[in-house]
Amino acid sequence: MNDLLTETERLLPECMGLLEHWVRLESPSFDADRVNRLGDAVAEAFARLGGSVERLPEADRGRHLLIRFGKQGAEAPVMLLGHLDTVWPAGEIDRRPFTVDGDIASGPGVFDMKAGIAMMWLALRSLLSVRGSIPLPVAILLTSNEEVGSPNVRELVPRLAAGARAVLVLEPPLPDGVLKTARNGMGRFVIRAHGRSAHSGVNPADGVNAVEETAHQILRLRELGDPANGTTVTATMVEGGTRPNVVPAECFVQADCRVPSSAEAERVTRAIRSLAPVLPGSRIEVEGGFRRPPLEPTPGNVRLFEMARKVGKEIGREIAGGRTGGASDGNLTSGAGIATLDGLGPVGLGAHQEDEHIRVSSLPWRTTLVAGLIEKLA
Ligand SMILES: [Zn+2]
Repeated sequence: MNDLLTETERLLPECMGLLEHWVRLESPSFDADRVNRLGDAVAEAFARLGGSVERLPEADRGRHLLIRFGKQGAEAPVMLLGHLDTVWPAGEIDRRPFTVDGDIASGPGVFDMKAGIAMMWLALRSLLSVRGSIPLPVAILLTSNEEVGSPNVRELVPRLAAGARAVLVLEPPLPDGVLKTARNGMGRFVIRAHGRSAHSGVNPADGVNAVEETAHQILRLRELGDPANGTTVTATMVEGGTRPNVVPAECFVQADCRVPSSAEAERVTRAIRSLAPVLPGSRIEVEGGFRRPPLEPTPGNVRLFEMARKVGKEIGREIAGGRTGGASDGNLTSGAGIATLDGLGPVGLGAHQEDEHIRVSSLPWRTTLVAGLIEKLA
């Protein structure tokens, strides 16, 4: 393992060159042209290593990249999973240019997750130069809009990962490089109340107030949460009413749900779907569901984590795992029953924040962890 570590250290300047180039190519989720320009640059770097690149179109968004190494079909591949897009608008790079100051590299999207993509490149490049080949088929999937989570991606990621022996997600880790071994599931629901309009001065009693009905439902939603055990149900948006002097006939509330387990996802879904109207004469409709299942410590996920701890030991690093509230595309692969390990990106802080940065010195050992996992999985 230490020969791989030495090689990643030797190749670090080349890797940082790619990272700088990719951070400068800004890639906001909703800007298809920019995402595609980054995708082309990334594809070129992997093609130079011998990868075969497939571009997968996506309506109104940039293309996803699927890059394959090794013979396909004979053996189940390892999937390296990540995303091309960032939460930052175009032009952010002029305000906060890519900089390296001592051990700290900063710039929009550097931590979430362009350094993760650079690490994928460094892992394969090092395996190729130290071992002469990559020990098993590798499929890299880089989605174009993870930060937005389009419905198509929720179908595409599990479909492309199907049959993989494991999925390694190079998203940012928790502080100090702690891997993400549990991620909450995320659901969105819309509860629509239908009432009856009336003049609020002349005949208010003839109306059925949809805003009032929604108020009742908001309080019920809150009661569905179990914050002590990690489940929250939060009313995040409300819209209703038409005029200041009209009893409102329509109103809706949107609820954001976070759950630690699929059992909780089922409980919350059942409860929201069976919400009943409170006011006589009103009616409610419920839409939505869980968009990302929770990433749970399934036997396959735990085995993969134990493997990472072993690789860590071989290079003198203690590997720890923890829970995060945020969801990633890794939730989708784990939910589909494929062994998944998330948070394998570099040590850093500040995803989605202005102080976003990575520790450059963590790139070699974090990359060796990924390359070592690929070897151990073979
Ligand atoms: Zn991310």
